[in-house]
Amino acid sequence: MPSSIAHAAVAVIANPVLEGHDRTRGLIWLAGAAAAAPDLDTVGWVLHGADGPLSAAHRGVTHSLAVAVAGALIGVALLQWHRSLRSPARTFAYLALVIASHGALDCFASYGAGVALLAPFAGQRLKAPWRVFDGLLTEIVCLWLPALIFIVLDIGGFRSRSGAPSADSSPSRSAG
Ligand SMILES: [Zn+2]
Repeated sequence: MPSSIAHAAVAVIANPVLEGHDRTRGLIWLAGAAAAAPDLDTVGWVLHGADGPLSAAHRGVTHSLAVAVAGALIGVALLQWHRSLRSPARTFAYLALVIASHGALDCFASYGAGVALLAPFAGQRLKAPWRVFDGLLTEIVCLWLPALIFIVLDIGGFRSRSGAPSADSSPSRSAG
C-alpha cells in the first residue's frame, strides 16, 4: 500500500494546478497512469527482493524525484508536440507533483525499508516515522474519497473537457 488507485487519485486532486485550457480529462487520465507507473518495478521485487539494488528493486530509482522530473519533462514535450499547451510550466509542475507524490506516499507505507527518493544521486532509502498506509481504510479516506469529491463536484472543471480545445475554452474576443 498505497494502491495504484490511491496513486492515480492524486492526479485528480492536483488538477487545479493546471491552467484551465490545458486541464483535460485525457491529461488527467495520463497523469493518473504516470502516477501509478513507478510500481512497474515490482518485477524487480520478484527478482531481487523488496530492498535490493536501486536500479532493479521495488521502490528504487523509478520512485525517485529525478525520474518524476524527467517524466514530467517528457510528458510536457509530447503534449506540446501533440497540441499547444497554454502553460507548459504549470503542466510540468502538475506532472512532476503527481509523479513525485508516488514515492512520497510510499514513504508512509506499512512495509519495506523505504524509498530511494534521491536516486541516482544518493543511495539511501527514506521512510517516514509513521506507517500511515496500513490497509485500505486510510487511503480510501485520504485519497479515494477526496478524488471522488473532486470528480462529483467537478472541481477544476475537467469533466466537461474532452482533450481538444473547444470554442467555450477559448478566451472571448467580443468587440464590445
Ligand atoms: Zn510504489
